[in-house]
Amino acid sequence: MENKIKRIAVLTSGGDAPGMNAAVRAVVRTGIYYGLEVYGVMRGYQGLIEEDIFKMESRSVANIIQRGGTVLKTARCKEFYTYEGRKKASETLQKRGIDGLVVIGGDGSFRGATLLGQEFGIGCIGLAGTIDKDIAGTDYTIGFDTAVNTAVEAIDKIRDTADAHDRLFIVEVMGRDAGYIAIYSGIATGAGNILIPERKTDMESVIAFLVERERRKKLVNIIVVAEGDEFGGANEVAKYVKERLPNIDTRVCILGHIQRGGSPSALDRLIASRMGYHAVESLIHGRHNVFIGILNNRLNYVPLDSIGKQKGHINEEWIKIMKVLAY
Ligand code: ADP
Repeated sequence: MENKIKRIAVLTSGGDAPGMNAAVRAVVRTGIYYGLEVYGVMRGYQGLIEEDIFKMESRSVANIIQRGGTVLKTARCKEFYTYEGRKKASETLQKRGIDGLVVIGGDGSFRGATLLGQEFGIGCIGLAGTIDKDIAGTDYTIGFDTAVNTAVEAIDKIRDTADAHDRLFIVEVMGRDAGYIAIYSGIATGAGNILIPERKTDMESVIAFLVERERRKKLVNIIVVAEGDEFGGANEVAKYVKERLPNIDTRVCILGHIQRGGSPSALDRLIASRMGYHAVESLIHGRHNVFIGILNNRLNYVPLDSIGKQKGHINEEWIKIMKVLAY
């Protein structure tokens, strides 16, 4: 294998996602396997600007594959939005002789990496670490599967108490711009309605659905709402339902940050390991400024500067399945 590069660095940036540690581990171990020096950067771009960076060994990443969060910590870094901030970050890399940078984060982090590449010629590779699965060009993002499983586990529990009291529960899951967590967790738990940012929320049809359910004495109801639903999230939906159907015992449950935490699922560990491994291979082969996606089980190298939200691309098939199965 051609091997012109000697030193690489890895950081985690933006919103944390379970499986980021598995990705860091894969980058470090693959780099060392190929004889590279690997550096860890603390707190994302902030650590790059402040030179908070250390050499990692194979042992530095022992016992982390199963841990949620990120051992490298993550941050949102205002300074990195400025040219001066990015210049400082590039100086840290140049000073240390680092030839390539692996950025594990969401689309915001990828935009930062794109500029670092364009302005200072730093070779960057992106790994999609985001629970929202809101990046086009990949079937998987690190953390999504775990977040869905966490939501499913929680909604199953809510269903037990909803059943005991014949209640309607309106459950809010994460997804400011993307409805994937809502769709997947809603279908997997048999929710009656799933409200997502990508679709206009038709509250009249939600009300009609609830009235029909009541008529058929199907009293246990779960509605899953993505936090970014354009009607305004679970509290707004509940307010509307209570006004229109005051006889229904309606409760709200906002799942919140539990969806970010916890031990990554086997799938997230596997895709993080695969993506981390290929990130280093890519750098070694001189393929820069791409992020590594997996499409139809094949690697997909997507130019970082083409990054765009996959908003609006929810598969119609899922919407149909949800409607048919909720009847
Ligand atoms: P995520 O990566 O999860 O989408 P953010 O959007 O907060 O999270 O991005 C993480 C960090 O990436 C930001 O705090 C900032 O430092 C950097 N970043 C995001 N967008 C840009 C941009 N347009 N230009 C430069 N840096 C950016």
